[in-house]
Amino acid sequence: MHNDLDLMVYPKGETVFRRGDAGDCAYLVQKGAVEIVGDYDGQEVRLSVLGEGELFGEVALIDEGPRTATVRTLEETVLVPVPRAEVRELLDKSDPVMRLFLLVVLERFRDQQHYAGPRRPHPAGETPASGEPRTSERTRMMGEATQKLALAHGLAGALSRDEFELHYQPICSLTSGDVVGFEALIRWRHPHDGLIPPQDFLWLAEQTGLIREVGIWTLERACRDWPELRAFAASSTPFISVNMSPAQLISESLAEDILKMMEKYRIHPAELKLELTETVMIEHPELASRILSRLVELGSGLALDDYGTGYSGLQHLQTYPIGTLKIDRGFITSLLQSTHSREIVQSSITLAHSLNMQVVAEGVEEDPVRKFLSKMGCDFAQGYFYGHPRPLNEYRQMPHDANG
Ligand code: C2E
Ligand code: CA
Ligand code: CA
Repeated sequence: MHNDLDLMVYPKGETVFRRGDAGDCAYLVQKGAVEIVGDYDGQEVRLSVLGEGELFGEVALIDEGPRTATVRTLEETVLVPVPRAEVRELLDKSDPVMRLFLLVVLERFRDQQHYAGPRRPHPAGETPASGEPRTSERTRMMGEATQKLALAHGLAGALSRDEFELHYQPICSLTSGDVVGFEALIRWRHPHDGLIPPQDFLWLAEQTGLIREVGIWTLERACRDWPELRAFAASSTPFISVNMSPAQLISESLAEDILKMMEKYRIHPAELKLELTETVMIEHPELASRILSRLVELGSGLALDDYGTGYSGLQHLQTYPIGTLKIDRGFITSLLQSTHSREIVQSSITLAHSLNMQVVAEGVEEDPVRKFLSKMGCDFAQGYFYGHPRPLNEYRQMPHDANG
């Protein structure tokens, strides 16, 4: 009955499955029509007729319980099977809250069917496949969804409760070792869970749209702290580097927001560097180009973050006004062990210099790596070797010449 496309063709009057059958897939009606038939006191009752584009048998997608009704074709019908294993795979990658909603809706549907008539009993000695695993899985799904909802709830109020912090990590000259600038890195000081790293909540801020407000907060806080932080750099042209999310970079008001903040805190545009990844340039090439050019017109520099992890080469990004390349930590950590990493780092430095860009190596943790990068002609470095990200207050407590 299967053809090449995995479609199933049934003649008129054929039974697709019977109430009580085991089922491990749902079906989408591509062509034709089927009737859904229930059983009341041994009497067949037509519950509904489904046509093109409609789905049936979907309860089998959540558990291995028996079919709750019988399905027969009313004419020649083409069905697309939707196997549970495939849906599972998709579900596992989906949003935990949506996953729970779907589970609840399907469970309710099965329970209603259950009240409408008893299920066919399971063979003696056989535990229903929908028993234990279903419960523990449900608990796990509940847990994931609740965790996300709680995090989203907490995150929504974190701004007004002033729970975000910026920590500043030094960026140093590879030749002199002097601090030339700082990168601002956000943390969430959660009232119960302590300091939460950005990777654990920024994805959620992006999903809920909160990322723009968080982005503005970060810019404002970095600008507010800069006049004091500046004193901890040993350069005639020190800078503060701020990470920008793609959502911020496609906001038409970004340049104006930044301009206002620079005026408010009396910051020279050249002192503010904006870090971005290539995602935004790939997803919104024209818009990004327009907004980024406006920022550069203001006098701020752009740094391409996580270089080497994306898809496009530097040539592709040449049309954007990028002044600094930040080579991703992955290549730096493996620099001494991997010829491949060395080749990538060396060719990135050479190419960047030929395009008049400066290069920052991220994640420098050891002196031999620092020395090697220096020999390769890399300009700047950032990493635990020079200093961890720290709040402004800790810099205040350090002697001015020992801020690494
Ligand atoms: P990133 O921009 O690549 O930031 C560098 C990350 O590497 C930071 O992690 C930093 O603490 C860590 N790091 C620095 N030196 C070393 C080292 O020597 N070894 C190791 N193992 N790690 C090192 P963090 O602070 O957890 O930030 C993670 C990411 O979160 C950042 O990656 C950035 O993409 C994002 N992020 C942080 N703050 C902001 C923000 O204010 N706005 C936006 N949009 N994104 C942010
Ligand atoms: Ca960064
Ligand atoms: Ca990075």
